[in-house]
Amino acid sequence: MAVKEIKDQCTACGACISSCPFGAIIMADNKIVITEACTACGACIDVCPAGAIIREAEEKSAAMDKSLYKGVWVYIEQVAGHIRNVSHELLGEGRRLADTMGQELAGILIGENVESLAKEIFASGADKVYLVEGPEFNHYSTDAYTITLTHLIETYRPSVILMGATNDGRDLGPRVACRVGTGLTADCTNLGIDEETGLVAWTRPAFGGNIMATILCPDHRPQMGTVRPKVFKRPEQDFSKSGEIIRVQSKVRPEDIRTKLLGVIQSCTAACNLEEAEIIVSGGRGMCKPENFTLIEELANVLGAAVGASRAAVDAGWKPALHQVGQTGKTVGPKIYFACGISGAIQHLAGMSSSDIVIAINKDADAPIFKVADYGIVGDVMEVIPALITEFKKIKGIA
Ligand SMILES: Cc1cc2nc3c(=O)[nH]c(=O)nc-3n(C[C@H](O)[C@H](O)[C@H](O)COP(=O)(O)OP(=O)(O)OC[C@H]3O[C@@H](n4cnc5c(N)ncnc54)[C@H](O)[C@@H]3O)c2cc1C
Repeated sequence: MAVKEIKDQCTACGACISSCPFGAIIMADNKIVITEACTACGACIDVCPAGAIIREAEEKSAAMDKSLYKGVWVYIEQVAGHIRNVSHELLGEGRRLADTMGQELAGILIGENVESLAKEIFASGADKVYLVEGPEFNHYSTDAYTITLTHLIETYRPSVILMGATNDGRDLGPRVACRVGTGLTADCTNLGIDEETGLVAWTRPAFGGNIMATILCPDHRPQMGTVRPKVFKRPEQDFSKSGEIIRVQSKVRPEDIRTKLLGVIQSCTAACNLEEAEIIVSGGRGMCKPENFTLIEELANVLGAAVGASRAAVDAGWKPALHQVGQTGKTVGPKIYFACGISGAIQHLAGMSSSDIVIAINKDADAPIFKVADYGIVGDVMEVIPALITEFKKIKGIA
């Protein structure tokens, strides 16, 4: 946060100049000037006897009437007219927060010809949908979406904004937070309401997952955060529910968009769409060599499943990183998770323990994965997986 001088209060004593480790303060016309060399360390604030140096954030927060900010918003991520699962998960969680705060829940829907999606948003629990449509929103664009979400916040002033910690959500969230001058907690794995302050308590792993940090945003609005997919369950939808659609005109001008989309290349097929998959077959170091991963792929193919991997398998170059499940990979929550040759390290469990059913195959009966597995097969993956493939093929009538 930048540091700023209040010239009227400066007595030209020079204390700040000698306190600055970066030589960033000079005297001009008998008043201090903070130059671009400032790193905002704040050493000068403490030494100034006249209170003539402040943090800009403090000035903004003092000027901000937080009571004007109301409502919980969920940014609805849609791709080619389909709402991503994470947005439904966040509507479910947003409903809970909004009810606790006694406020309304709104979905923010930006896209081209997407109005028909509003009924799904109401069915997942929203009271309102703010709808901005236009050809400029056909595909996600950093500039178009940043301008639009910033404009919506400045106009309608929500108290809380939840976004999915997807590639697009991680791109959009920080830009918007910076433009509206508020705080954002990235990649949260839990949300609550702080009892003492009534603020949203954003919890996320920090220092490689060694501590869980709970972060509050007391002085600025809206309170913003990105939340990992699959940490919350998708709510049951109720299509008898409806709500209010608020149409907002796009403020984006063609010259505002600095990038040109030349084409869309589909690099992620169903096999790597782990966050949306109902069944995942994952392999670890126990697959022993990269060629053996074809067994994982074959089993996934028979079951219509996505392919996951432990970090050990990814580090060995057996699978690209977008297949990695775990603390530093993807968080998944399928109906069935097959862990093949995976020991069950805590960092792996962090990404898959909310799966409904875990089936583990491991030759070591003491492997920690068996502690979280619903079904365990002690055996060699090279024997067990082919046997499973044969049996599933029979059940599915595949020759
Ligand atoms: C900061 C940090 C972040 C991390 N993030 C992640 C993450 O996101 N995801 C992740 O997965 N890991 C992560 N890790 C690494 C994690 O600690 C483990 O090292 C990793 O999960 C181990 O992968 P693995 O289970 O495949 O391999 P191993 O732990 O080596 O286990 C291999 C298993 O295969 C079994 N096995 C061997 N041969 C056979 C066979 N023929 N048949 C059957 N079973 C067999 C063995 O008994 C063993 O249990 C992270 C670590 C750190 C420090």
